[in-house]
Formats: sequence, C-alpha cells, structure tokens
Amino acid sequence: MGLKDLEASRWMKTKLVMLAFGLSLSVSLLAQEITPGNGVSAESPSALPLTEEERLWLKEHPTLRVAVKNGWMPVEFQLENQKHKGVSIQYLEKISHLTGLALTIVDFHDNLSTREATIITGVRGLHAPDGFTKLDLPYLETPNAIYTASDNTELTTNLQLSDLANKKVAVFRGGPLPQALKTLVPGIKLKLVDIADEAFEYLAAGSVDAYVGNELVLDYHLDFHKISSVKKSGITPLTSQVFMGASAHEPVLVNILNKATQQIGTNPHDILENWRRKPSENSVSKYMFSAVAFFAVLLLLQLVKLYRSNKKQARAAQQEIWFQANHDFLTKLPNRFQLKNVLQKALQAAHQDQHALGVMIIDVDNFKEINDTAGHAMGDEVLIKIAERIQSIIAPPNIVARFGGDEFLIVIKHAHNGEQLSERCAELVKAMLSPLTVQEKSFSISISLGAALFPDNSHQADELIMFADQALYQAKKTGKNKYVLFDASMHEVFSKRMLLNSELKHAIARKQLFLHYQPIFNLSSLRCEKVEALLRWQHPDFGLVPPDVFIKIAEESGYIIELGEWVFAQVLSDAGYIIERLGQIEICINISPLQFAQPSTIDLFLSQVSATGIPGKYFCLEITEGLLLEPSKHVSDTLNNIHDHGLKLAIDDFGTGYSSLAYLNKFKIDYVKIDKSFIRNITENPNDQALCKTMIFMGKQLNIHLIAEGVETLAQEKVLQDMGCQYSQGYFRGVPVRLKDL
Ligand code: C2E
Ligand code: CA
Ligand code: CA
Repeated sequence: MGLKDLEASRWMKTKLVMLAFGLSLSVSLLAQEITPGNGVSAESPSALPLTEEERLWLKEHPTLRVAVKNGWMPVEFQLENQKHKGVSIQYLEKISHLTGLALTIVDFHDNLSTREATIITGVRGLHAPDGFTKLDLPYLETPNAIYTASDNTELTTNLQLSDLANKKVAVFRGGPLPQALKTLVPGIKLKLVDIADEAFEYLAAGSVDAYVGNELVLDYHLDFHKISSVKKSGITPLTSQVFMGASAHEPVLVNILNKATQQIGTNPHDILENWRRKPSENSVSKYMFSAVAFFAVLLLLQLVKLYRSNKKQARAAQQEIWFQANHDFLTKLPNRFQLKNVLQKALQAAHQDQHALGVMIIDVDNFKEINDTAGHAMGDEVLIKIAERIQSIIAPPNIVARFGGDEFLIVIKHAHNGEQLSERCAELVKAMLSPLTVQEKSFSISISLGAALFPDNSHQADELIMFADQALYQAKKTGKNKYVLFDASMHEVFSKRMLLNSELKHAIARKQLFLHYQPIFNLSSLRCEKVEALLRWQHPDFGLVPPDVFIKIAEESGYIIELGEWVFAQVLSDAGYIIERLGQIEICINISPLQFAQPSTIDLFLSQVSATGIPGKYFCLEITEGLLLEPSKHVSDTLNNIHDHGLKLAIDDFGTGYSSLAYLNKFKIDYVKIDKSFIRNITENPNDQALCKTMIFMGKQLNIHLIAEGVETLAQEKVLQDMGCQYSQGYFRGVPVRLKDL
C-alpha cells in the first residue's frame, strides 16, 4: 500500500510540476492495447508447451482485459500522455507474444471485479485481491536497499542490516518489511512512514539514521526527481516480490499464465535494464542539502519563479519556500525540522525566565485501521481533522507540530508544573473522544499521549522528546486512550538497562556465565531424547539475571554474537560428557536471528563441530520463524549448510509470530516447538486445544515433529499425548539443571 501511495503522491507532484511549467496534459481516449506482434496469433502461440484444452481456451478468448495500477513508478505508472508504462507493461508484452493474446489495459481500482478485468498485475503480499488467483512465480523480485542522508558521515557505504542495530530507521508501514527488520536487527527503532517523502524528510532533518525501501523504485525516484540529499548506502538481503493474478473462475488461464511466467522468468534482464537507475551522486546541489533538499523539485520551481518575478513576488515566493521546507504538506503544521529549532528556542526562554515547559507526544490509537478500512485518502483527511482539533485546544504561543505519520508533538511553553501539564493532557485525551466527521462519515478515534517536563525531567530538547516518547510507550502498553507523564521510575528502568548492558560486556571475562540443560522427552517412550542448552548469567550484585532480560539487551547491543560464540564453545566442550551420559541425544542450542545476519558465526560453529569429530546429528539449532519469512540468500545458504552438516533445525516459540506453517516446507525443518503460552491452559481452553491440534496435524503433513514447551502438569502431558504430540519439555518432567546434575 505504502509504495503505491508514495508513487501516487509523486505522480501527483510530477503532474503539478508539469502543469506549472505550462505543459498540457493530453488525455488519450483510446484504450491502450498490447498485441502479440508479427506472426503470432491465438492459432499459433509460440514456444509454450500448452495442452489441447489450453489452446482451445486461447482460441475462444483472443482478447483479455488487464487491470494495471498507475502511479507506481517504475513498476506500473502513467505519465502525461496517459500511456501505461513500466515493468508490468513490458512483461505483459512478453506474455502477449508467448500466448497470442491481445491485451487491453484498464485502470486498476480497489474493488475490481473479474468482470472488469481477467488479469491483474502488481500483486504484492500473500494474496491476490478477491476473485483472483495469484500466479506461482513473481515476475519481479527486487532487493530492499538502505538509504541515508548524503551528508551522513557515520553511515556511509556498503551498509548491511547489522549496521542498523540500535539505529532509527524509516520503513514503509505496509507489507512484511517492518516485522522482518524488527526480527533481524536488534535494537532497531522503526519509524513507519506512508510515503517516501516523509522518510526523505526525516533523513534530511536527521531524525532517522537510515531508510530501508525497494531499490528499484527508490533509485528510480531519486534519479527522476534528481534528489541528491539522499544516497543509497547498502543492500539488504530482504526482497519484495510482485506477482500477476488471473480470474479464479478461469483455472485454464491461470495454468497458461503460470507456464508463460515460468518461461519468461522473474526479473527478465531486458526489461529491468530499462528501469534500473543509478541515482545521481551527491554533487552539484550539495549546497542545497538541508531539510529543504527533499523538496528539491518544488524548490527549483520556486527559484525559477523568484528569478522572474518582481521584488514583492520574490518575497512571497521566498516565504513559500520557507513554508514548504518547514511545514508538513498535509496538516500545514510545523514539521520536525522546524520543531527542533523552536523547541530549542523555547527551552532557552524557559531557562532565562525560570518557568517550566512541557513536551507532549500524541499518537493516534489504531490509526492503521482507519487507513486500512477507509483508505489512505480518507486517512489523510482524518489526520487533518485531528490536527485541527488539537489546535483548537492548544493555542499559540504553544506549538503543535506533526512528528510524522500519526504522531504529533506539542510544546507547552508555559507549564507551571506537572499537575498543570497533566490537566492539559487529560483535556486533549478527552477532546479526541467526540467523533470526527470527514466527508459525512463519522470516525471515533482516541489518542495516547506521553509527556515530559523541563526542568524536572531534563534540560535537553532531545532528552525531553525521548522521555515523552518513553511515557507514550507506557501509555500505549497500559491500554491506550490515556496519557502518562514521564517519571523517574521509567528512567530507573532505563538506567538499569544501561548498567546491565555495560556489566554484561564483562560477563565472559569475569566468568559469570554458565549453561543449564533442560531435558526434552519423547511422549511415547518417555525417554529423554534431547536437552536444550539455556544460558545463565550470575552477577555478583544483581544475582541471577533472567535470560529474557539480558538476551534482549545483548541483541540490542550486538553483544549477542559474542554470547552466542561462548555458548557454542561451552556446548562443544560439554557435548562429550552429555553423549556419554545420555547416549543418542540431541543438544538444542538457541540461535538469535542476529547470528544469522553475521556472515561467519554459524559457519564457524559448523566447522568446529566437524573438527571435534562428533556427528552433526547430535545437535539441533533453535531458530525463530521470522528468519524464514523472507530469507535472504545468505540465510538460505546457512540453513542448507546446517542441514548438510547433519544438524537438526527447530522453530522456537511457534505461534507467537507469523505462525504460518506454509513457509516451513521451503527448508528442511525437523521440529516445531509450540510456545508455552498455548500449553498453559490447554486442559481447559478449547481454543488452545484446537490450535495445538492443528499444529500437530499440519506438522504430520509436513513431516515435522512437534515439541510442546512449558508442560508443567501430568494433565497437560496427557492431553498432548492424546493429540499425538511427539515431544514435551517442561518443569513437570525436568527443570533446567547444571551439567553435573543432568
Ligand atoms: P526458550 O528458548 O523458549 O527457552 C525455554 C524457556 O522456558 C526457558 O526459560 C526455560 O527455563 C523455560 N521453561 C522450561 N520449562 C518450563 C515450564 O514448564 N514452565 C515455564 N513457565 N517455563 C519453562 P529461560 O531459561 O528463562 O530462557 C528464556 C529465553 O532466553 C529462552 O526461551 C531463549 O529465548 C533465551 N535464551 C536462553 N538461552 C539462550 C542462548 O544461549 N542463546 C539465545 N540466543 N537465547 C537464549
Ligand atoms: Ca528455545
Ligand atoms: Ca521456546
């Protein structure tokens, strides 16, 4: 969705730019046709291995309508002469040539029926729209790249996903990319955007470190709009796929098109070379770099105007430039760039006059739902209304700014104290509850709000914003539709994490780490067939720190790589004893997704296993399902390498993430571990029972064994046994213990 809108908005701008230059838009009323070309007809479709039935079908349907989107440059878009262009169109030309079909292009819209078009292009995500079947093979699969501000000296070239650890990164709201980044990059702070402009603005203003998006699309944009304030700094292993779809009522056509796409393949070279762009290097307009650079096109236009106009007009134009550089297009509110300056100045004034100042961040609850159900255009209008309502309560000299997406930031210049700030917050939360009307439709919304106070909480602008954001997080976490004032306890949690983080870095050298092993039982024989290695950190002052806490910290800091290496080494040194003690056994090791992002850690472990002479089958690696969602080449290679070395693979905590077994058959997965949250109430909760039954059933189809986690009672074990679950792990049969107690 995001990309489509981005392109649509860019397209609108392109149109505006052309209008401003006095170019006329010629509207062609003739429908665009793609014909098979010389010597090809429905009677003689070329090279495709078609069945008799398929040939007959083509003969009976020589012409079909194809619905194509516009405004998604360069995948499928229309420019001034209204001709559809892009990768999809050229791919359709190939299909037409192969099948002999004549194709009439029609405009795609959201509720398209199969009566209006038999084929659709530009299908992304898991499913084609209702009534259509997605083809098997994508016609386009392009990587997502990392973009940074051209003057960013810290993040430069050849960036990898792991370089984004703990960084603020903008990414499109729609699709699986945000979740994939969250899973793969520890500590990444995602800023979800709806259009690329927003991300470019954040980059220019320095409020995000990087922006991850579709390489083909964004390179084209940077080049098309000659934006030099943003540069491509690396490629991620995550790709995005685009498919065609055909009417589900026409299975024969689906087969024909599947054969055609098989033959043409994904990313045909001759098509892609027309649309690949190398964005212009950061050169001439470097002087222009600032928050305004993202408006480069508009700015240039304004400069042209300015040059031509008299002084009075020049002043107006200058104001216009300033306004566009400092304000949000949609709500006309100050944007982040301006906000930083204003907040700084307001803080100075508050300091001098010795009065308090409040910073609030507002986030609209469940705004995504409005966008999803009413559409982005309506969503935009709702945002405008929300901005108006906020302004009706927060009047100048206080400041209301758009912080991005559905977030607003407010500066209360004269807050007397925390209590008064609370009152303003309460007023805002309450005021949002009466419905908003947009185009005669009524929207009920609520907001969550976090606030921080100068001088009580901090003297620094950045820190006040950060604290308000932490308070907002608290408000969201504890039920939404409310406000939370930042307080020192939140800060304590924050500081404690910092302290743990710095202490953890010495844990290996100070010999504070050790392993527990927990047995896993075969539910038929009740024999212990596996053990799971669980990392423990014993700190002299903090005691035994829970792994859930320190693993997360280590993932955020990247230190998990060292911890993981320590675990590998320890398991290898314990393995001889465990095998001697328990016989044919599998030792299960937890792997953080970050260890997969690192090129060599797992490969190194595999070669160490080989070097010890212990067969790979004695080990099992527990990975998380997020890793398999859009596996990069490196992830696939590593998974295959693990399998080639004879090690087993298990999916940990199944049911808590995407919970789709569909991707499991892409790799050889041996076990799926059902998360303990499904086992806890399994004896009485029919939903949990149904879920477990389904997982076990599907596991059987895919030849994957199920391990139930957190089995604490005989009754739970009995239910699982009856369902045909193969393994159980839990306090009922065995708690995690030291090696010597195994
Ligand atoms: P996990 O992989 O899901 O590990 C199983 C957790 O369930 C362990 O928690 C274990 O002690 C706990 N458990 C076992 N039986 C029961 C039961 O009957 N009831 C309940 N309520 N819990 C049970 P633990 O040891 O606290 O570890 C927490 C998490 O920390 C692990 O969850 C895993 O994600 C992570 N972890 C532990 N060791 C490592 C490691 O070496 N590397 C990595 N990357 N992560 C690790
Ligand atoms: Ca585990
Ligand atoms: Ca688990």
